[in-house]
Amino acid sequence: MEKIKKITLSEKEMPTQWYNITADLPNAPLPMLNPKTKQPATPEDLLPIFAEELVKQEFSTSPFIDIPEEVQDLYRLWRPTPLVRAYALEKALDTPAHIYFKNESTSMAGSHKPNTAIPQAYYNHRQGIRRLTTETGGGQWGSALSFAAKHFGLELTVFMVRVSYEQKPYRKLMMQTWGAEVIPSPSRRTATGRKILHETPDTPGSLGTAVSEAVEMAISDPGTNYAIGSVMNHVLLHQTVIGEEALKQMEKAEEMPDVVIGCFGGGSNFAGIAFPFLRQKLTGKHNLRVVAVEPLSCPKLTQGTFRYDFGDTVGLTPLLPMYTLGHTFTPASIHAGGLRYHGAGIATSQLLKDGYIEAASVPQTETFQTGVLFARTEGIIPAPESAHAIAQAIREAKRAKEEGKQRTILFNLSGHGLVDLYAYEQYFAGKLPS
Ligand SMILES: *Cc1c(COP(=O)(O)O)cnc(C)c1O
Repeated sequence: MEKIKKITLSEKEMPTQWYNITADLPNAPLPMLNPKTKQPATPEDLLPIFAEELVKQEFSTSPFIDIPEEVQDLYRLWRPTPLVRAYALEKALDTPAHIYFKNESTSMAGSHKPNTAIPQAYYNHRQGIRRLTTETGGGQWGSALSFAAKHFGLELTVFMVRVSYEQKPYRKLMMQTWGAEVIPSPSRRTATGRKILHETPDTPGSLGTAVSEAVEMAISDPGTNYAIGSVMNHVLLHQTVIGEEALKQMEKAEEMPDVVIGCFGGGSNFAGIAFPFLRQKLTGKHNLRVVAVEPLSCPKLTQGTFRYDFGDTVGLTPLLPMYTLGHTFTPASIHAGGLRYHGAGIATSQLLKDGYIEAASVPQTETFQTGVLFARTEGIIPAPESAHAIAQAIREAKRAKEEGKQRTILFNLSGHGLVDLYAYEQYFAGKLPS
């Protein structure tokens, strides 16, 4: 039999709705709380910085939400993305397992992030907003939003953590090429930035400060809103286009995964691949395991506690009921920058607490060994974040071999690592701490 490597969908088969897992959660999560009143947060709390439609989605309990035509149209620039059977990796591992991956690295930004950047820019544009602000660490989210904002005619100001701005010029240049204004944070543009610069002029900056600057700018101008790249329900919702496609593709391959795997920062690509499959599990259609994979150095799922905590490091956001290491936790500066986040968001935390998903952690050296093996077998150089998912897929495939069982494994390749080659250089030079 001929081996089919890539399971593709036509543009006509692209999903027309996102999936909102809130509707199917067996135990409703606790509400987010307004940080001042400690009462359940209301849509009014979020409207000063987010578009109305996004706030509606944040609180929605409808299971399916239509993807606007304009968003579908832009998705078609690179979606549907391929589902690939990793035959070469299977062979290298000499495993009876079937390994599939969903390739989200094919977008303009090289990751899954445009899946939410595009609808966020769209809804803000439709509401008459002129400008968006956001923060970015390594630049993955900022670059995705830059293209989306430009497409809908919005200005975009990105506060980029100063040390990344200086040390990672390529994503900054991607953002500038797509027309965004990129400002090293802390900056003189906001009261928060000026205060920090006055106190510590040489600070390398932090994601928390960059969030505060972006939010401050959005609050102080009615024509400006803020956009966020992960953690919140509406972001996870937009990413489910990944898993909805993968579900159709697995059906075409005439297999269903026994285990679905995603790397975990704030949970958006994990939710994207996993939630549509979890619907099958929660509604009793198909039993499967779902694993979220985090860095050993930032282990909120495997070692954090479930409690109310802020979504950001400064304490501006609503309080979220979630697994957290505490919002003041400073993770080691591993190269998988997108996974250095202290909390886990509401829906994923509830699912973990109730035992519907599992969590695993991987040390940094294992992720780079994995990244190199994947590059040398499947050809794609993975983002250090995505390599966490691959590492877990390999662990599962090795276990299948030990147990002499066929098992079908699906993981999400959240992005490529072509802008992260410096990290691979450090790895080859033996300079990476585990
Ligand atoms: C941002 C990012 C992540 C982590 O964010 P999630 O919201 O957890 O998905 C993972 N992989 C890549 C390639 C990213 O850009």
